[in-house]
Amino acid sequence: MSQGIGTRCVQAGYTPGNGEPRQIPIIQSTTFKYDTSEDMGKLFDLEASGYFYTRLQNPTNDHVAAKIAALEGGCAAMLTSSGQAANFFALFNICECGSHIVASSSIYGGTFNLIAVTMAKMGIEVTFVSPTASDEELDAAFKDNTRAVFGETIANPALTVLDIEKFANAAHRHGVPLVVDNTFPTPVNCRPIEWGADIVTHSTTKYMDGHGAAVGGAIVDSGKFDWMAHADKFPGLTQPDDSYHGIVYAEKFGKEGAFITKATAQLMRDFGCIQSPQNAFLLNLGLESLHVRMPRHVENGLAVAKFLQQQEQVAKVSYPGLESDPYYEIAKKYMPNGGCGVVSFELKGGRAAAESFMKKLKLAAIETHVADARTCCLNPATSTHRQMTDEQLLEAGIPAGLVRMSCGLEDKEDLIADIANALK
Ligand SMILES: *Cc1c(COP(=O)(O)O)cnc(C)c1O
Repeated sequence: MSQGIGTRCVQAGYTPGNGEPRQIPIIQSTTFKYDTSEDMGKLFDLEASGYFYTRLQNPTNDHVAAKIAALEGGCAAMLTSSGQAANFFALFNICECGSHIVASSSIYGGTFNLIAVTMAKMGIEVTFVSPTASDEELDAAFKDNTRAVFGETIANPALTVLDIEKFANAAHRHGVPLVVDNTFPTPVNCRPIEWGADIVTHSTTKYMDGHGAAVGGAIVDSGKFDWMAHADKFPGLTQPDDSYHGIVYAEKFGKEGAFITKATAQLMRDFGCIQSPQNAFLLNLGLESLHVRMPRHVENGLAVAKFLQQQEQVAKVSYPGLESDPYYEIAKKYMPNGGCGVVSFELKGGRAAAESFMKKLKLAAIETHVADARTCCLNPATSTHRQMTDEQLLEAGIPAGLVRMSCGLEDKEDLIADIANALK
């Protein structure tokens, strides 16, 4: 793809014909009409491509998914109802009861629960590894039944940065794909496929939508993983699917089509976690300005992080764009233009200090959300993690005084003045 990332944000995925709508139409229809049963039968046999029921596929979604595939440099993509659904589908499309996953321990809490608790009930085990694990430590985590490696480019909320090349090489040494959740940097700031990732996932709820308007997710396939070369590991892709008259996805659709076709035909059919066409339309409005918004989020995040670092009330600031951050060098390698606008910092006065600080903020609202146009913040100790004692919080790497601040698109001078006033 020779077009720049900005041109793709604005125009990829949908090219209207003569006299057709300029904006992607919202196809608000559950179903699609056919002249003969034979025509429709071909769709059910996966012999022809087309739409029959919005639980599986919808044209609005497919235009927006095609844009996200173009942004990530992938060959195919699909939209899901949420980021949680995207990560579940990406992993469950290649794992089954008896499989094992190697995952970075530094990931979003919802994904941690999904893998460690819910997928465990399905008979899928996991080994968590440090995002800074050495090659030897990574190799030691693999088992005969390992089927995927998982990590987040920039982890929410720990803000650790994944060494994508190292994790991709480890996955490929063991004949399995690397799945990377690229929610925080977005493809504007990092494209994991260029560094060896095979599957990329997103919570489009965050920067891609960017306006706190629509929950959604996306899965992108690089089309590079050779399922047939490891046929014994991935029977779902390389053995006949009885629910589609014995189709073998990797044979019929090849490296570039197998993964997303199977996830659509089987998982979307059976679980139905599809994004509504309305939400896909809203998501596309966000994507049209993603390349303009991300640099501003980065600018504000860095300015706020630098300011916080100089304040005596602040014990510690985590932001991979700060030279003092342990992930600075690796972030520079994968994200030379910066990562995102989320900053974590610890106030010296613990839980009470965090609570009174946040109460005094006027621009930054207290929300569980991140990656919105409006600045928001959260103190895990008094919200998402409030059942834990101060000691338990410390063990989990979330000190009681920790504040996660997602810097929005306001003027950085106003954000800093708001923080300075609340710190006083
Ligand atoms: C929010 C988030 C998710 C979950 O996405 P939802 O859209 O809330 O389901 C997954 N991964 C990361 C990195 C996230 O920030």
